Amino acid sequence: SSALSIRQLTKTYGNGFQALKGIDLEVSEGDFFALLGPNGAGKSTTIGILSTLVNKSGGTVEVFGHDLDRDPSGLKRCLGVVPQEFNFSQFEKVFDIVVTQAGYYGIPLKVAKERAEQYLNQLGLWDKHDVPARMLSGGMKRRLMIARALVHEPRLLILDEPTAGVDIELRRSMWSFLSELNQKGITIILTTHYLEEAEQLCRHIGIIDHGSIVENTSMKALLKTL
Ligand code: ADP
Ligand code: ADP
Repeated sequence: SSALSIRQLTKTYGNGFQALKGIDLEVSEGDFFALLGPNGAGKSTTIGILSTLVNKSGGTVEVFGHDLDRDPSGLKRCLGVVPQEFNFSQFEKVFDIVVTQAGYYGIPLKVAKERAEQYLNQLGLWDKHDVPARMLSGGMKRRLMIARALVHEPRLLILDEPTAGVDIELRRSMWSFLSELNQKGITIILTTHYLEEAEQLCRHIGIIDHGSIVENTSMKALLKTL
C-alpha cells in the first residue's frame, strides 16, 4: 500500500514566488526514499506542507490514506517529521522534551516516559536525559529531534537533511539507526545533499529542481546511468 501520495502539489508564497509547480510523488509502505535536489529546489517547502507548518496552494496529500485536508489529525498520527531547525525549547530538559511531545498525541504519561527512555537510549542520549537541551552539541540535538519525532510511533518518518553538519562517525551511526528502523517496517523519507547517504540507505530516489520532480527512479537504476 501507499505510505505517501502527493498529487499536483503547488505552493505560491505570499510574495508571489512559486516554490512548488505541481509535484507528484508516490512512496510505498516500507520504502526508504531519498529526495535530492539543490538549494531552493522546494524540499523544505514540501516537508513544511506535510508537517502542516506551510499551507499548500493546491493539490492533494495523503499519508496512509489520511487526506491532509479532510483528516489532518489522522495524518499527523501516522507521521513523524524531523525538521532542519532545532525547534524545541533550549531550556527544557531532554527527557521532558520527548515526554511533552508524547502528550500532544494523547499518550498516557507512563507509556510516554517508557518510550522516551527507550528512544533516548537507542540514540545514545540517555546519559543526557536530565540536562537542558541548550547544553547539547549539534549532533546530540539532531538525535533528540529524532527521538521526539518517534515517540508516537509513526509509520512514516520524514527527515530534512538529518546528517547535515554532522561528523562522519555520527553520520554512520545515524545511518545504521535509520536502517534498523526501516527494517522494523517504518517507511522513511529523507532529504540529503550527500549522494553517498542516499546510495547507502535508500531504495528509491526522487530528484526535485525548481519546484518540479525531474526524476523518480530506483537507486539501482540511477547508479547504472552515472
Ligand atoms: P505564506 O504565503 O505561506 O503565508 P509568507 O510569504 O507570508 O508565507 O512568508 C512566511 C515567512 O517566510 C515570512 O516571515 C517571510 O518573511 C519569510 N520568507 C520570505 N521569503 C523567504 C525566503 N525566500 N526564504 C525563506 N523565508 C522567507
Ligand atoms: P530547499 O529546501 O530545497 O532548499 P525551499 O523549499 O526551502 O528549498 O525553498 C524553495 C524556494 O522557495 C526557494 O527559492 C526559497 O527562497 C523560496 N521560499 C521559501 N520560503 C519562502 C517564503 N516564506 N516566502 C517566499 N519564498 C520562500
